[in-house]
Amino acid sequence: MDSTTAERLVANEYRFREVNERLEADVREIADPEERIAFVCECSATSCRETVSLNLDEYGALRAVEGHFAIVTGHEILEIERVVQRADRYIVVEKLLGA
Ligand SMILES: [Zn+2]
Repeated sequence: MDSTTAERLVANEYRFREVNERLEADVREIADPEERIAFVCECSATSCRETVSLNLDEYGALRAVEGHFAIVTGHEILEIERVVQRADRYIVVEKLLGA
């Protein structure tokens, strides 16, 4: 994988994260912290339409670390990220590159 491809894949993940940040801001007003919300998978595939279910506490912990993304198990690309957490509903990956 060349660096241009890797950078594009990482940029995709940041785009999905922006979608989730808007969603989180909307639901925070109405949802219980324990309630699971269907966030979009933050993997690098623009064609991915899968969701990861996190409650607001889990989502807050995820966003507390710059460079961490929640994705569906199996959607990780080990050339651009490493798995830092495996939950039963999703995994958390850390980017090896900046965006
Ligand atoms: Zn995905």
